[in-house]
Amino acid sequence: MTAQIIDGKAMAAQLRARLRDDVEAITAKGGRAPGLAVVLAGDDPASQIYVRNKHRACEDVGIKAFSHNIPATTTQQELMDLIDSLNKNPEVDGILVQFPLPGGLNESEVVQRIDPSKDVDGFHPYNVGRLVQRIPYICACTPHGIMTMLHKTLGDDLKGKNAVVVGASNIVGRPMALELLLAGCTVTVTHRFSKPQDQKALIRAADILVVAVGKPRFLDGTLVKDGATVIDVGINRLPDGHICGDVDFEEASKRAAFITPVPGGVGPMTVATLMENTVTAWKSHLGIK
Ligand code: NAP
Repeated sequence: MTAQIIDGKAMAAQLRARLRDDVEAITAKGGRAPGLAVVLAGDDPASQIYVRNKHRACEDVGIKAFSHNIPATTTQQELMDLIDSLNKNPEVDGILVQFPLPGGLNESEVVQRIDPSKDVDGFHPYNVGRLVQRIPYICACTPHGIMTMLHKTLGDDLKGKNAVVVGASNIVGRPMALELLLAGCTVTVTHRFSKPQDQKALIRAADILVVAVGKPRFLDGTLVKDGATVIDVGINRLPDGHICGDVDFEEASKRAAFITPVPGGVGPMTVATLMENTVTAWKSHLGIK
């Protein structure tokens, strides 16, 4: 079997176009434009690239971006004060603080300070709790974008599929497992403490495999089940400058039915889903269903 590529770039362009239509329809009637505050602390080059992509997406959709580039020496209190002022700003519908933050700044405190109605990253315990309780509102962008890709690829009914999530971080693995559970999959999460033999057996049995570990070609592609759907979340920069995922793409794509490439898979959908969350927050602030 040679896997069909799941084209995240094309799916993201489609989603952005739909959002642009939504924004145009509402602003044409006199409504204000949606606003996204983007906070970048320090000068990490990878974060600068991610933030630039988010600004471009805002422009494409018609979202007003407010840039807050603050120095790496910013104190926790200064950052909290900035979040407080963005929480109060009626032009700001969404607040995005680019992680990782420079050493010394506490990310968890930042996440908890953001008004849940402006938490377009979907990381606030309120929004995670809603997903846990099966009343999702704003969901974490990467896992939610992956769900959009899975539904477009496999159809709406994912019930009973055997889904394995490799990696258990707060931003990808854990919310991913909750999204798949909500969709009716039988979900297993493996992590640092999983026994390698157990992990291999689970991967071999997976209909849907989502890999978010952050190690280049971590997942042995020969373990992929024939006909599986493989979602590679990893973005790893190799010493030669190339980007690769967490999955051994060459071997995995010989067995899978569908697979995401890196780059051009999950990444663009993550950004498009951030735009979707911002539009959702905006409509809710305007009182539009
Ligand atoms: P992370 O916070 O470092 O989490 C990695 C996870 O992998 C942790 O849960 C860790 O387990 C687990 N892990 C480590 N060794 C493992 C092993 N041997 N077997 C199974 N699991 C293992 O990273 P992340 O934020 O989730 O990101 C993962 C990757 O996705 C990175 O390459 C990142 O750049 C990329 N990413 C891409 C996007 C996108 O839009 N495409 C978005 C976010 C992240 P423990 O919890 O037990 O430590």
